[in-house]
Amino acid sequence: MAQLQVAERLVGPALTEGHALARLAELTDGIGPRLAGSEGSEAAVQWALRSFKADGVKAWTEPVKVPHWIRGEERAELIASERFRGRPLTVMALGSSVATPPEGITAEVVEVRSLEELAALGDRVKGRIVLFSHDMKGPEDYGRFGSLRGRGPSAAAKAGAVAALVRSLATASLSTPHTGATRFEDGVTPIPAASVTVEDAELLHRLLAGAGPVKVRLVLGCKELPEKDSFNVVAEVKGRQKPEEIVLIGAHLDSWDVGTGAHDDGAGVVMVMEAARLLARQKPAPRRTVRVVLFMNEENGLRGARAYAEAHAAELPRHVAAMEMDAGGGQPVGVVLRSAEGAAELVRPWLNPLVALGAGTLLPAEAGGADLLPLLPASVPFFGVRQDSSRYFDFHHTHADTLDKIDPEALAKSTAAAAWMAYVMAELPEVLPRPPAAPSPFAPAAGNVKPPAH
Ligand SMILES: [Zn+2]
Repeated sequence: MAQLQVAERLVGPALTEGHALARLAELTDGIGPRLAGSEGSEAAVQWALRSFKADGVKAWTEPVKVPHWIRGEERAELIASERFRGRPLTVMALGSSVATPPEGITAEVVEVRSLEELAALGDRVKGRIVLFSHDMKGPEDYGRFGSLRGRGPSAAAKAGAVAALVRSLATASLSTPHTGATRFEDGVTPIPAASVTVEDAELLHRLLAGAGPVKVRLVLGCKELPEKDSFNVVAEVKGRQKPEEIVLIGAHLDSWDVGTGAHDDGAGVVMVMEAARLLARQKPAPRRTVRVVLFMNEENGLRGARAYAEAHAAELPRHVAAMEMDAGGGQPVGVVLRSAEGAAELVRPWLNPLVALGAGTLLPAEAGGADLLPLLPASVPFFGVRQDSSRYFDFHHTHADTLDKIDPEALAKSTAAAAWMAYVMAELPEVLPRPPAAPSPFAPAAGNVKPPAH
């Protein structure tokens, strides 16, 4: 069937029917936050199954053991000194932080801007609260400074610190702390770790520049409960000619426990669900099978990603392309690949229907996604729809990641682009050339390399 006729049937309804947005309202306003192990996450699993069924898309669950971390009381205060008055600070525990004693931890603050600076301090870290500062300005800085949140508290604990504060990884701040995962290396006794608002990090920074100590009291009541049984939700639209060849389109169903995960990653979830709904209506069906995977526990463990790769290990050589939509609900701006020589030539002739959406070009950036990492050793080619993420980190991992932050038009356009690219990968006469196998960040052979924190 002519490319443009199919494009009309996929892109048209994605732009005009508002289905993805309605679904996102159900997931965010209806279910709410859905951190792995929570009741919300289980409700989201049931919702996804019901929704696929209503769309006429075959779906099932696959088991995943997940951590069950819960937030408790959280507060901090600047202790008064001769130079300044005391006052509350706005903090939010980082995922997998341990609690403080009920009375809190009170200690002098020492500020560092990198893990190297921390190491250089040596003994001066002992008994202190380490403040990890940075100057994140745009979305492109998230990768660079993310290691301060992901690995900083563990490094601080190793060096003898009693607690860690991490300046929120934010591109804007109205006194909003941004949570996220941190990870303690094996053998390190975890310390309480929290994010602090940009404003309070700046205040501490200014006070530390003056003479005399700066003391903070931190109270955290979070805890790790026994692991729970949870699920990935998997759905499929069978291919007409090569049903054994799989195009994976994914997103993560879990969110943080604050906000309602409208951008992270409710938007991605409804985009790939809508792609499946529209592809299931497509007659004849695309050449290959399109498989939707809604991963559980991306945020604080990537257990769903690992469980999927393990359960489907024998099938991974037949995974001909994989995409994860996990960059919010912003406008589509182009298409990205992670493949090998010759891929661009195969894909470019199929991008015309994306031109009107503003996404008709192949961009030099690499496609990827946290939940796709376990597919790296199997040389699975990745593709993706790049989105405008200039405002994404204003709300990311905060109480403010809610439906009102979603631009319906941008969501609809990215949904259309994702649906079209899923179709392209399923319909291309040839498959994308496979990239060289890369080591999995989870393989024991990788030694102490830890999966990145998201
Ligand atoms: Zn995400």
